[in-house]
Amino acid sequence: MPHLHSVCPLDCPDRCSLQVNVEAGRIVSIDGSRVNPLTDGFICAKVRDFPRRVYGPDRLLHPMRRTGPKGSGRFDRITWDEALETIARRLETVRTEFGGEAILPFSYGGSNGLLTQGTTDERLFRALGASRLARTVCAAPTGAAAGALYGKMASVDFPDFARARFIIIWGANPKHSNIHLMPYLKAAREAGGRVALIDPRRTMSAAYVDMHLPVFPGSDGAVALAMIGHLERIGRVDRDFLARHATGWERLLKRARSYPLERAAALARVEARDIAAIAEAYATAEPALIRCGWGLERNRNGEAAVAAVLALPAVAGKFGVAGGGYALTSSPAYQVDDERLAGAPEATTRVINMNHLGRTLLEETSPPVKALFVYNCNPAVTVPDQNRIRRGLLREDLFTVVFDQVVTDTGTYADVLLPATTFLEHTELSTSYGTYAVMLGEPVIAPVGEARPNEEVFGQILRALRIEDPYPRGEALLREALGAIEGPVAGPAARQGARPADSPGDERLDRLRRDRILPFDFPGPRPVQFGTVFPGTPDRRADLWPAELGRDPYLLLDDPADAGHPLALISPATDRTISSTLGEYNHSDVRLEMHPRDAEARDLRDGQEVRVYNALGEVRVPLRTNPELRPGVVYLPKGIWNRHTKNGSVGTALVPDTVSAVSGGACFNDARVEVAPA
Ligand code: SF4
Repeated sequence: MPHLHSVCPLDCPDRCSLQVNVEAGRIVSIDGSRVNPLTDGFICAKVRDFPRRVYGPDRLLHPMRRTGPKGSGRFDRITWDEALETIARRLETVRTEFGGEAILPFSYGGSNGLLTQGTTDERLFRALGASRLARTVCAAPTGAAAGALYGKMASVDFPDFARARFIIIWGANPKHSNIHLMPYLKAAREAGGRVALIDPRRTMSAAYVDMHLPVFPGSDGAVALAMIGHLERIGRVDRDFLARHATGWERLLKRARSYPLERAAALARVEARDIAAIAEAYATAEPALIRCGWGLERNRNGEAAVAAVLALPAVAGKFGVAGGGYALTSSPAYQVDDERLAGAPEATTRVINMNHLGRTLLEETSPPVKALFVYNCNPAVTVPDQNRIRRGLLREDLFTVVFDQVVTDTGTYADVLLPATTFLEHTELSTSYGTYAVMLGEPVIAPVGEARPNEEVFGQILRALRIEDPYPRGEALLREALGAIEGPVAGPAARQGARPADSPGDERLDRLRRDRILPFDFPGPRPVQFGTVFPGTPDRRADLWPAELGRDPYLLLDDPADAGHPLALISPATDRTISSTLGEYNHSDVRLEMHPRDAEARDLRDGQEVRVYNALGEVRVPLRTNPELRPGVVYLPKGIWNRHTKNGSVGTALVPDTVSAVSGGACFNDARVEVAPA
């Protein structure tokens, strides 16, 4: 049986290399491979089960046209030619009658590689003069804060966690969505290190975690500032490091003084002494490391919270040693030239925040959105304010195309459905956002049904619109994408310091085809922040009072308290889904989780069907009590589909479409709800 190489496409920092076992042109099983030494043959259940998507009953096999009312999910099969012609003519008509900005492309993530987004699709929508989309549903506040403080500085790599003697896991759950970090956490503890978890849920057992601070959602910024203030009070600010390597630190220290431990503790609903204990353990350990996740950005204070957390290693002088500093995302280190990949003059059309999809569809008038093209994304269940989005998608005058692998919840509202290939059926160039490697995935089976890759379909729409597109495709696009990586990826172009524009990526592609992986050429085995890699800021120093984050980068807004809805709803990723991808067959037993004390106060019992509600909507599911969740917080899993709840609504029906101040990030954890018997 052929064992073929591939790469996991899911939105996960680990980016496992895979061995796909194929028999008679059909996938038999998916295992881990050792091509990526970091994931080393071990994969999670998510991608192991991926054949269920490839061959499952939800797979979209042919182009389809709507036959029933909007949202009815009734479609008839049509040919690709009919579909492409219908789409091209409608886009043309919309552009003529309302202008290009009446077309809204809507995408996020997808195969998480360099080829399936931001290439041919980008050129199509730029050529049409379409509205641009701010992709802010995830990582926008974190990216804004990290970029402002440190520029494009590489993150600490997984293996160096084993060297740390104190690790703070802040707003992340590696057990579910970064599993290859777990052995290094364990190794750190076996070597005498300690681990603290800052999260509303105790997501890891005592085998991994020594201290747990169950902060209330949205209070992380106050806690981090209080820790900085406490470091100053106990004489643990590294003024030497700050004087040499940072700017703006005096203002940060002054700001932190306005968050004494007691104030932060009251906001976070924890004990002041517990915040102090973590700050002191962090200050005295060497090396000490912070794993900053994406949980703390999902509220009105996203940028300020992440900035305060990432300022801690500078204030405490934790950089300059392997196993010290912070780990966030490795993406900035790749330095991908997005404009080179787009290959078309930069657009200047209006920008629409994806978190405002419902509002935009219902309220935008200059011009109104008349054509919505959704790909690599399932906004009907993943974007805030689900009910408003549904009302928008039901508009009879809106022409909606959904291009996806399966018929998603968004797909049921489409006028035309287009079948997309999966990562097992197309070529993709993958970069890991947790570690440092570029990998190539090539088709291991023929497209299922009539599915086609993104690049091909957007190219065909360009042709149907008679728009000339001389940009490279196929193999040439692959070379171009490799050349667009300006970071220190192995290969002669990088080593000789040649500009990527001078190198078409040939050398890298040859090596990639041979080894299946391109590692990074850091000086030393892995990046050491302020040792071998430095901030990408203009003066190569940490900017601890960055103007990009506003006049007060650490300004914290009050909790969006709502008297009738006192509980905070969180919706993190699970061990089955990271986004809504694969949701079609997972989550057969969705529950609302709640602390037993909160359940008792409402006279609710395990297994009972409840309604979780606020002014925006309602979700009906059975209840599960969970003492690992802090009181005052309830939990619904991320990635569920409408079919998984009793009333066909998911957690995003309860999430306001308010956005964070600087980057317009989604505020999922600002949802305030009440729970009652159904
Ligand atoms: S989801 Fe993450 S851990 Fe699971 S196979 Fe993919 S990259 Fe590996």
